[in-house]
Amino acid sequence: MDEARISEIVRQVLAEFQAGGGTVAKVAGAPVPQRSPAMPLASSPVTAGVPSGGNDGIFGDIEDAINASVAAQVQLTVMGMDMRKTIVAAIRQTALAESRRLAELAVADTGMGRADHKQVKNDLATNGTPGPEDLEPECFTGDHGMTFVDYAPFGVIGSLTPCTNPTSTIINHGIAMISAGNSVVFGPHPAAIQSTLEAIRVLNRAIVRAGGPPNLLTSIAEPTLRTAKILMTHPKVNLLVATGGTSVVKAAMTSGKRAIAAGPGNPPVIVDETADLPKAARDIVAGASFDNNMPCICEKECFVVQSVADRLILEMQHAGAYLINRQHVDSLTKILITEDGHPNRDYVGKSPQVLLSAIGLSVPANIDLVICETVEEHPFVQEELLMPILAIVRVSDYNAAVEAAIRAEHGFRHTAIIHTARIDRITDFAKRVRVNLFVANGPCGAALGTDAEGYSAMTIAGPTGEGACRPRTFSTRRRVALPGSLRVL
Ligand code: NAD
Repeated sequence: MDEARISEIVRQVLAEFQAGGGTVAKVAGAPVPQRSPAMPLASSPVTAGVPSGGNDGIFGDIEDAINASVAAQVQLTVMGMDMRKTIVAAIRQTALAESRRLAELAVADTGMGRADHKQVKNDLATNGTPGPEDLEPECFTGDHGMTFVDYAPFGVIGSLTPCTNPTSTIINHGIAMISAGNSVVFGPHPAAIQSTLEAIRVLNRAIVRAGGPPNLLTSIAEPTLRTAKILMTHPKVNLLVATGGTSVVKAAMTSGKRAIAAGPGNPPVIVDETADLPKAARDIVAGASFDNNMPCICEKECFVVQSVADRLILEMQHAGAYLINRQHVDSLTKILITEDGHPNRDYVGKSPQVLLSAIGLSVPANIDLVICETVEEHPFVQEELLMPILAIVRVSDYNAAVEAAIRAEHGFRHTAIIHTARIDRITDFAKRVRVNLFVANGPCGAALGTDAEGYSAMTIAGPTGEGACRPRTFSTRRRVALPGSLRVL
């Protein structure tokens, strides 16, 4: 098929879309064009007459961003699966090359977290997010012929992203959503705007360099609650993905649009009397201190069986945690918890040194985590602090630990961790806590493939049930039946 024909199809589908407001997911009868990755797209007839503009995907107006995204998705569909693979490979290459710079930009932009750990998250999103191979079709054959089920794109996805993982979420969504044949209009968190937009820009450039369409990833330059609401209700947006706290989850789920909502977590970690305590301590300190505890999957409170509590606390100190006393906890609570009982946003993602200096304590730079003993009801246990402070609660036995852990998880269905030598307890806790991510005898990162098996995701959709999102999550299933045909046995 020549370029003029591709161009004609793009124009035709866009015209139909704009007239009807429907989903552009597949161009009937359009064969896959054999494009060379080096073919210059910007000046080709494919883009002629198609809304583009913007600055590497960044637009001043939300309508322009959405219209450009519609056009980009049509072009992606016409270009076919091989081009999707080429685009995803280019995204991975650029994301790896830019990983450190984007991580440093995210810290400078938000004032939260650690550049070294944000680089790890960027790399995890780059290497661990599945590509188009995730869309393996399903096939049924029998005496009556054959039926197959394919994964088709939704079209344009509106994705609201958090300030806690700004650049890694763009990389993860870019790979997974484009792999599934979609384009994306991002609604970045205003507190992480510079780093989020820069991630979108560099990935768009990589896509275009690889021969893909411009504006597969778009955003508005200055996001507000108003533009987020437009994105959530716009007729040309076919799927909404909200990654953030309770408020955005509620807004997405009541938007009237198909939504994938990934909300807060408050992951408990249990340590019982059979656990390998030095290893448990090392794993918990590594997990709870990661990026100053900002990832939603981090260990956020610990329930330890009384008989091993002293030893666990000692091992945690050996692993680099700093233990504070009851008076320190009282002083810190007054600063870190607001009058209405919620975390003080000024301290979210700050280092142990910054947190402790607020109560006049000075600790060495190599301290990554603050630990303290509290009662179960304390806000350091019940609130999702997103700070490198781990509250430890002594419990009488394993059962008491499970009950307290389930209460602290608040039914978010997010993440839970256990350290035990008893397989029956791993099974029992996993069944009772009913979370999307569960780790036994490892740090929280294992749930997303760090030094463990399985793919990575930056969106863990508990409220709507998809769990760790991947390309097939961002696809619709289409079924094709061939009664009496193609059964060869
Ligand atoms: P946030 O809820 O403040 O913001 C997330 C996004 O939603 C931003 O783009 C923001 O602009 C938008 N937003 C917020 N309220 C909105 C509303 N009422 N209407 C429309 N848009 C709205 O979250 P954050 O502070 O950026 O991120 C931290 C939170 O996100 C934590 O609770 C963390 O656990 C959670 N989180 C969850 C996951 C997951 O996969 N489940 C991943 C990362 C972060």
